[in-house]
Amino acid sequence: MSGTLDSKLDTLNGIGKKRAEAFEHYNINNVEDLLFYFPVKHLDRSNITKSSELKKYVANGYDGEATLLGFVIKSEEINYGKKSMFKVLFKDGNGTFECVWFNAIKYFSGRFNAGDNFAVAGKPVLTKYGNLQFAHPDFDKITDEESENFKHTGKIIPFYSIPKKLKELNLGDFGLRNIIREAVEVYADSLTETLPPEILKSNQLLPVSQALKEIHYPRNLETLQNALRRFKYEELFYFEILVALKKHKIRNLRRGVAMKANGKLVKPFLESLPFKLTQAQLKVLAEIRADMEIDKPMNRLIQGDVGSGKTIVAILAMLIAAENGYQSAIMVPTEILANQHYDTLKKMVSRFGVNVVSLIGGQTKAIRAEALADIKSHKANIVIGTHALIEDTVEFDKLGLIVIDEQHRFGVTQRSKLRDKADLPDCLVMTATPIPRTLSMTLYGDLDVSTIDKMPANRKPIRTVIRGESSLRGIYKFILDKHEEGYQSYIVYPMVEESEKIDLKAATTHYEELSKTFFKNRDVGLIHGKMKWNEKQEMMKRFADKEFDILIATTVIEVGIDVPDANIIVINDAYRYGLSQLHQLRGRVGRGSKQGFCILLASDEYTKQLQKFDFNLDYLSPAKREKIKSILRLNSMVKTSDGFLLSEIDMKLRGPGDIFGTKQSGFPELKIADINKDTSILVKAKQDAFEIINDDPNLVFPGDSLIKTKLLKSYKGHLKFSSIA
Ligand code: ADP
Ligand code: MG
Repeated sequence: MSGTLDSKLDTLNGIGKKRAEAFEHYNINNVEDLLFYFPVKHLDRSNITKSSELKKYVANGYDGEATLLGFVIKSEEINYGKKSMFKVLFKDGNGTFECVWFNAIKYFSGRFNAGDNFAVAGKPVLTKYGNLQFAHPDFDKITDEESENFKHTGKIIPFYSIPKKLKELNLGDFGLRNIIREAVEVYADSLTETLPPEILKSNQLLPVSQALKEIHYPRNLETLQNALRRFKYEELFYFEILVALKKHKIRNLRRGVAMKANGKLVKPFLESLPFKLTQAQLKVLAEIRADMEIDKPMNRLIQGDVGSGKTIVAILAMLIAAENGYQSAIMVPTEILANQHYDTLKKMVSRFGVNVVSLIGGQTKAIRAEALADIKSHKANIVIGTHALIEDTVEFDKLGLIVIDEQHRFGVTQRSKLRDKADLPDCLVMTATPIPRTLSMTLYGDLDVSTIDKMPANRKPIRTVIRGESSLRGIYKFILDKHEEGYQSYIVYPMVEESEKIDLKAATTHYEELSKTFFKNRDVGLIHGKMKWNEKQEMMKRFADKEFDILIATTVIEVGIDVPDANIIVINDAYRYGLSQLHQLRGRVGRGSKQGFCILLASDEYTKQLQKFDFNLDYLSPAKREKIKSILRLNSMVKTSDGFLLSEIDMKLRGPGDIFGTKQSGFPELKIADINKDTSILVKAKQDAFEIINDDPNLVFPGDSLIKTKLLKSYKGHLKFSSIA
């Protein structure tokens, strides 16, 4: 074979022009790319039993998963009544087992020819005839040779997922295995090492060529684990190199503004508050002050659960800016929230001569022109707005601090656009989606993180329950009774209009119905995303002023809204929401001193299943996990109101690759490593990466040239924050 790593794929046996093109469709363009097409799983001896053994286990109550290796004796379609099923009988050693399918029978029936070898995995049961049976198992075909080899030498067999377009070109399991095997044998040794030797040594990682061979055809499970560890480390290492480069750039390349807190505004403001700041708030405030005092731009994330009091801390930072003659801008994700913050801010700070201006999408021309003029002339000290703030027409006189609330709602570009309105302003971002510490230090590794980890003392935990739809009457009565005690309520529906496809309850229809029936003697309001901002604002205001007892809403109320007497929230079709969204919605209540209630509604049938599942997900297979995710989410809501815990659960439920804002963070997506599980590798990779960038931020040392080369090769699109490219 005469080729190199960057040879086109059709240099390999088994790949012609057509297949090569199909591979290119999946971004596998050359031999090297194919080498890095890793198996999705391996078949190894340690997880295989014999059917005769397994039968005994199952008879004794074993109800976990198992893998068997056998060959097909016969297969048949069996009809009974109106239904049919497809059954395959296998033999292994001196026993037999059967697999059955009830759906997609056509699809399965062509796949099992007598004599073919298969690895079958699933959860076996004993039938009433005493047969060992798998229903809808996973199965993989293997060759006779592989099967023999496997039985005698225990050689581990890799399984790859076969991309659709290649399946269409009749590339099957062993076809792909053979192609990749050949590529590995011929080319793996030509790979260039991508990690520095000291790093390999100190982390006891396999060199790249060896790791690559082991990941496809491991000698044993231990070497497979080692190979995996190497690639996970490498992925996390380069991720963190990018994070470190960005942080370095922001911190050190240019100077920002220095602001001293002189107390002129902060002191009287603090004295005017009806409460004392919590220890947690004071600690975070001290961190912010320290950042603002030095002449490097602050780049800090405040994370704190819903209701932990982040807004006050942000206001204090903005007052420090004002004391120093700087303007501040605070950007929030929704107009309602902008208006609420605007009202709160004005009430709190205008008496100290601090001028607040708001800027949102739907304002009239005149109002907008006035706002823009005030911002430019510095008549406005604090500007609050939605993403309307980042438009080109918005010019500041002297912008020194930007605050971004609910930062996960904004993309990287939106954030940096606001930042570009000034010359290196201090930057504070806030999130109520708490994330575990290791995760935040990774994803937001370029930010310094402050955590408000204690709630104000006056908070009572919210009582959360799950109810079926048949309890609705009782719930409405509860709302009416509680109203006598001065409670207001939210009733939340997922969508504005009845959709034909998904039969969700719509806020509008329910508003009409409920205000004529259950709540006909009450004042009911309606708010939804399709209203104009001033209509929404009006509604919220009237609700806050207690003109309404009940507010029927879509999720527009989700973020940040604060009405102290609204202490009941009913969430319809609760299983459709994500965990962080549920937690946010629940955060709308329990903000005052009254007991808060959160009622999660689901169908009756659904609630029946709830009891069956426990908190612990670890023993569940991915398929089952998927199915009961929503049930687990609701259960978790009942069991805890700790936002950090919920976010950990959420992360487990979502799995890798779909973690808060990873995609929005501007850093590459992780493909091999799982931040949840590979935390210790992550911590070490981060430490190593940061040390290297601290010592050699431009990667000019000869020992670091390998890192630079790899960055330019594989991460070019992510280098705009650095001075490498
Ligand atoms: P979030 O962190 O969700 O943005 P907010 O800043 O909106 O929370 O605060 C929630 C409520 O708690 C507000 O009404 C605020 O005035 C009040 N609050 C903030 N700090 C304290 C405190 N230290 N003690 C009592 N109440 C507080
Ligand atoms: Mg808030």
